[in-house]
Amino acid sequence: METTLRVFSIFTSIQGESTYAGLPCVFVRLAGCPLACVYCDTQAARSAVGEALPISAIVQRALRGAPSLVEVTGGEPLAQPGTHALLRALADQGCRVLLETSGAFSIAAIDPRVVVIMDIKTPGSRMAHRFCAENIAVLSRPGHHHQVKFVVTDQEDFKFACQMAAQHRLADHTEMLISPVAGLDPAQVAEWILASSFPFRLQLQLHRLIWPHADRDGIER
Ligand code: SF4
Repeated sequence: METTLRVFSIFTSIQGESTYAGLPCVFVRLAGCPLACVYCDTQAARSAVGEALPISAIVQRALRGAPSLVEVTGGEPLAQPGTHALLRALADQGCRVLLETSGAFSIAAIDPRVVVIMDIKTPGSRMAHRFCAENIAVLSRPGHHHQVKFVVTDQEDFKFACQMAAQHRLADHTEMLISPVAGLDPAQVAEWILASSFPFRLQLQLHRLIWPHADRDGIER
């Protein structure tokens, strides 16, 4: 019997939170997440049961129109073990596949064709203790194109990001993104970056800038 996944929505929008920001992208948003970040902006998907769909149906809907970029997100996609098979199936179709994950689950067995955008939860999220420490070793594997993102709520979170970058020499092998939480002045975060010695890339949430008064999800597929 084919593996099913609980899907919250499948939609087209602009990629907003990685070095792929600005590109058209199909999003597969999976339902459910066992974390509880204080700033969670996908509460509906986090707490939803979702619609159980076979992987072949998800791929068919996502790849309608042959998009060049597909992102699997959530909720927390890796909370569902079948997500690995979905990522493989999407990559088999030849498109660039991104996975956005909280870092709470191991990324060691992710298909190597997939680009992982891993949130390293800061203390301000109240979920830093959920980080799967073995993921750091995966980031130092040669040839990967993974990215780490720190959502910062204040300067203490920024210092945490600096500590992680220094301790694990993240800049040697990984793109590092800093994303100010909604309400934190990006100009302030820019000052912190400029005063640091790390090549953080300032990441503003494009969805909020483009559609400040609308739901962040895009056109349903
Ligand atoms: S990991 Fe993501 S979906 Fe889960 S609670 Fe945190 S922000 Fe929300």
